[in-house]
Amino acid sequence: MNNSKPLVVITGASSGFGAEMAQLFNKDGYPMLLIARRVEKVKELPLNFDNVMVAKADVTDKNEFEAVIRDAEAQYGPTDLLVNNAGVMLLGNVWRQDPNEWQTMLDTNVMGVLNGTQIVLNDMMKRQHGTIINMSSLAGKKTFVNHAAYVASKFGVHGLSETIREEVSDKNVRIAMVAPGAAETELLTHVTDNEALDGYQEWKDSMGGITLDPVHVAESVKFIYDMPQEVNIREIDIAATRQDS
Ligand code: NDP
Repeated sequence: MNNSKPLVVITGASSGFGAEMAQLFNKDGYPMLLIARRVEKVKELPLNFDNVMVAKADVTDKNEFEAVIRDAEAQYGPTDLLVNNAGVMLLGNVWRQDPNEWQTMLDTNVMGVLNGTQIVLNDMMKRQHGTIINMSSLAGKKTFVNHAAYVASKFGVHGLSETIREEVSDKNVRIAMVAPGAAETELLTHVTDNEALDGYQEWKDSMGGITLDPVHVAESVKFIYDMPQEVNIREIDIAATRQDS
């Protein structure tokens, strides 16, 4: 509780965007709670772990998710920033995709964000201070073939974020989103449909092998947070310049 900076909570900190965000906020000395299922990967990040708590939790399990946040708050004080970043993208076509894959995406990408939001929002409203940044996607505002269920989940993130923003704006709480295009993370490694995976790679190759370094997505999150509390950058859409869609 002796920290001058408030608690930052990041979900999905074991790889990709979340791991980059962890490094940026750590350099600035924020006390952090880093959440993932693969905690061993978080512990290998190049961080100063003095004021970092690493906790194993599945964002789809609200009780487990809430317990680790309350533990961190007992040590570092109330959550001032929650980044709902954990997510999965399982490409496929609805006429043949295993419905369990839809369920995993909707549970993680939508229920996970709702869970995290409810866990911290009441206290933020009471304190009239706090920020929630949801990791959506360009697939949260436009369609992409082979992405139907993922698009459904990310349109959900856009819709719930803007709705909640309207509801809590008078409490001085910021709800914001970052919507990235294709970036180089572990996201594609969970895709089971090889045809859809090949299609994704061909799409990227057709634009000269586009690549977006995850660090720039992390910088966008930090840019939103670093603005004064009375300023809300509601959404940042960020993609490789060469990405045409
Ligand atoms: P990664 O696969 O590299 O990272 C995903 C992270 O989410 C991992 O740390 C993973 O940790 C965590 N995670 C997944 N499911 C759960 C769960 N049930 N509970 C807790 N943690 C979970 O991908 P990205 O960094 O790319 O993805 C981060 C976010 O960015 C996602 O929401 C994704 O949809 C979004 N996005 C990604 C884009 C891209 O092209 N990369 C583009 C647009 C948006 P662990 O497995 O250890 O639990």
